[in-house]
Amino acid sequence: MRIYNTFTRKKEEFIPIESGKIKMYSCGPTVYNYFHIGNARAFLFFDVVRRYFEYTGNEVIYVQNITDIDDKIIAKAISEKTSFEEVAAKYISAFYEDCDALGINKPSFQPKASEYIKEMIDFISLLVERGYAYPSNSDVYFSINSFAKYGELSGKIIEEQRTGARVEENVSKRHPADFTLWKAAKPDEPSWNSPWGKGRPGWHTECVVMSQKLLGKTFDIHGGGSDLAFPHHENERAQAEVVTGQPMANYWMHNGFINIDGTKMSKSLDNFFLTRDVLQKYSPDAVRFFFLSKHYRSPIDYNVGILDEAEKAVSNLTACFEGLNEADINSLGNNGADSFAKYKQDFSDAMDDDFNTAKAIAVLFDLSRAIKVNGLDTTSKNELINLLYKLGKVLGFFRKLNNCSYNDSKANNNSELTVKLIELLINYRMEARDNKNWVKSDQIRDELSALGIILKDDKNGTTWDLKKNN
Ligand SMILES: [Zn+2]
Repeated sequence: MRIYNTFTRKKEEFIPIESGKIKMYSCGPTVYNYFHIGNARAFLFFDVVRRYFEYTGNEVIYVQNITDIDDKIIAKAISEKTSFEEVAAKYISAFYEDCDALGINKPSFQPKASEYIKEMIDFISLLVERGYAYPSNSDVYFSINSFAKYGELSGKIIEEQRTGARVEENVSKRHPADFTLWKAAKPDEPSWNSPWGKGRPGWHTECVVMSQKLLGKTFDIHGGGSDLAFPHHENERAQAEVVTGQPMANYWMHNGFINIDGTKMSKSLDNFFLTRDVLQKYSPDAVRFFFLSKHYRSPIDYNVGILDEAEKAVSNLTACFEGLNEADINSLGNNGADSFAKYKQDFSDAMDDDFNTAKAIAVLFDLSRAIKVNGLDTTSKNELINLLYKLGKVLGFFRKLNNCSYNDSKANNNSELTVKLIELLINYRMEARDNKNWVKSDQIRDELSALGIILKDDKNGTTWDLKKNN
């Protein structure tokens, strides 16, 4: 399979770090508002990436962060005379509801920034200690001159401008492009104690710390909307790679914008449509069709009428399931081998070519036409319906036909809990080591090992992994 890698600006053969196990991260919402369909495109597309990897037999560990501390959340809390926690809680539930309505599966992990503050302070301290970052007026900045490869991902050339340049006076940064890792709190702002005083971590640091905690130093895919390539992903990468000396992610994937009258849909331009409003009028399958009928890297123009067409198109597909009884529907996707290998092959060829969902959808329509051919025998018809369902599910269609739910994903909640418990034990072991209690420290390591959890110690601390099956 080939994936377009923003880093190399070309399609490359996709080779995962560990065969059969894909580790991917994509930047999730900042929870200060309902999300618009421009945001939804990224959430939905990376869900399809994950589904396709699972369809092809891989285990996927998919992490999507939730930014629940941010200037915009604080500003909203002030304007609504409430706390930032309440703003975040309200829009986190709204985010879950809207993802559920769109038929997006819950990621393996959805870490919240507020739950990783200690780890972020430790990480920023390490950057300062090693000279990659510096405190200034109770803020901490990353020094872009400390990372020679800065700009490689986005292709941005940062001009050499030094402190004292005549354009700026009294600057607290060494270089105008140095970015904030830790932000000093103003009075009455939410804050945490740190070696630099009360403050909060910056967004770029949040994603680095959470992705490395849950996926390790290098993972397979880092995704997000194309507006995140610079500065957000460039800044994530700089922080991660100065410490680890290895790539943060092997493949960087970015989806295109949704445009309205040729202009990018965004909250700042006030030309957006909220996902929940669109879903009042159109089915989730129609919205999904609207996104996936174009290649993910191409911009999509949103206008009145385009979703009407999408609704008509998907009703042609779902018509294939009309007349099925409940037992038939429940057995869809589980029926034996399908003999129509050509459709499967065409579908895989499309998806293997940098997730060409537009071509993959064309295969679904080929199938729906085959189902409607007069005189088709019942066995063949059932097999074709079954295959249409199976391939459609890879793209997330036909959710209405069964009862899956975003919030019911208990297995995922369990794995999040497991990680927290393992980290708790690692912290106890660190404490034992600090107290030179080697017996206790070894006992914790051995007991985790017996459970299939391997600890690795290096100069940056302790990381863990699951024991490989042999
Ligand atoms: Zn991010």
